Amino acid sequence: MIIIMQHGTSQKDIDYVVSRAQSLGLGTHLSQDQGQIFINLIGDLRAIYPSALSGLHGVERVVTLDQPFRLASKDFKSERTVVSVGEIAIGSEQVVVIAGPCAVENREQLMKTARAVKDAGAQMLRGGAFKPRTSPYSFQGLGEEGLQILAEAREETGLYIVTEVMTPEQIPLIVQYADVLQIGARNTLNYSLLHAVGETDKPVLLKRGMMSTVQELLMSAEYILSYGNHNVILCERGIRTFETYTRNTLDINAVPLLKELTHLPVLVDPSHATGKASLVNAVSRASVAAGADGLIIEVHIDPENALSDGYQSLNPRQFAELMGDIKRVAHAVGRYTTPEKQYVK
Ligand code: PEP
Ligand code: MN
Repeated sequence: MIIIMQHGTSQKDIDYVVSRAQSLGLGTHLSQDQGQIFINLIGDLRAIYPSALSGLHGVERVVTLDQPFRLASKDFKSERTVVSVGEIAIGSEQVVVIAGPCAVENREQLMKTARAVKDAGAQMLRGGAFKPRTSPYSFQGLGEEGLQILAEAREETGLYIVTEVMTPEQIPLIVQYADVLQIGARNTLNYSLLHAVGETDKPVLLKRGMMSTVQELLMSAEYILSYGNHNVILCERGIRTFETYTRNTLDINAVPLLKELTHLPVLVDPSHATGKASLVNAVSRASVAAGADGLIIEVHIDPENALSDGYQSLNPRQFAELMGDIKRVAHAVGRYTTPEKQYVK
């Protein structure tokens, strides 16, 4: 159960509602979105009637929820969340494309890739500066130097930057460079990291863990929302199954399912979902057809010599072809990819 306070409620009203909840034996967790206060009630709610609280001064409404996730739930907020990054609106009619290498390797590699994905119509640039690698002997990323190269690419191309944060300690540095903070699949259940990004004002791209259920993904989003950051973008990137031909198995069900359960935007990562460049185009088209609000795709100027995830990276020509192909699928489902070619219904 959540008590939604009216915009601009006084602290006195908030304190009074909290004390009433406490007198009913309940705990409270306060969060806010643009000044509007939400009081999450914690404890045994079975005997609590919303009417016991809905009439109190300053209360807009009391929402009862069937799901364990609250702020992420459609019952809490029926209109879709649109996350703005500059003029880019994620969760709007536009299918937003984020593209770039798995890792920033050097200046030339990143700048050439950034120019290529920009020319093909991508709106944002991805690139890891801090890389969570399965092996400690693999390339771990350039760190701050990688962030500086990303900033240079943004300066030249105007592409917004999406980059991964692996620990709470990295946040103060990364927020100086990133437009969107990526939480990787290996960290989806890292609650101290979710808490820490929840206290920033940067949009967060939250990947689904490779072993996370859809409900666990939404509970991870709930952490970020509950600490005050309402700009959360979910990302389906494939889950572990018994199949071995592909790196992961894209759970395409998750796309329309998440649309039913949450108001948050949903992206798909066909690169990590398949682990094979040859499958990325078809899986991207399927994702757009299923209702994804965007894609995050690995692109490298020279995939064969990439320091990470080369086998699943598209070269610039393949990426340009993909942009043309998904544009047609987007039109077929009433959406568009690049603003200047906006679909007219
Ligand atoms: C990545 O985006 O390069 C990455 C490591 O993805 P994931 O966390 O989904 O494995
Ligand atoms: Mn990768």
